[in-house]
Amino acid sequence: MAGMTLFQKILAREIPATIVYEDDDCFAIKDINPQAPVHVLVIPKTVIPRVGDAVPADQATLGALLLAAGKISTQLGVNATDKGFRLVINHGRDAGETVPHMHVHLLAGRDLTWPPG
Ligand code: AMP
Repeated sequence: MAGMTLFQKILAREIPATIVYEDDDCFAIKDINPQAPVHVLVIPKTVIPRVGDAVPADQATLGALLLAAGKISTQLGVNATDKGFRLVINHGRDAGETVPHMHVHLLAGRDLTWPPG
């Protein structure tokens, strides 16, 4: 357990969460503090602490995350032009990052204002 990130502990079923998707590269959970009716975190199984720390060897993992997000948006019924969704990656303090295991927020189910806060 020591040294594992929060999300690795969730993947290992050491911490409970609602897992809505899993494949070889990544998994997705419902956010515990949802900011929209649909708020899912898409998380790589390989830990990249922050997106700005990613290296060329992470290219396939990063691509897999976006492909998974697209599949999950379909699974959740928001992959339509009359609905829609937003993907967010927070890096560092100013962006409000709290878990240093890179992840993509998938938000949907309400009008998402622009610019974001
Ligand atoms: P970030 O602030 O971008 O690092 O995102 C971390 C996200 O993880 C936040 O939206 C939290 O609500 C979410 N979170 C923290 N702990 C849990 C948990 N145990 N299960 C599900 N989501 C969590």
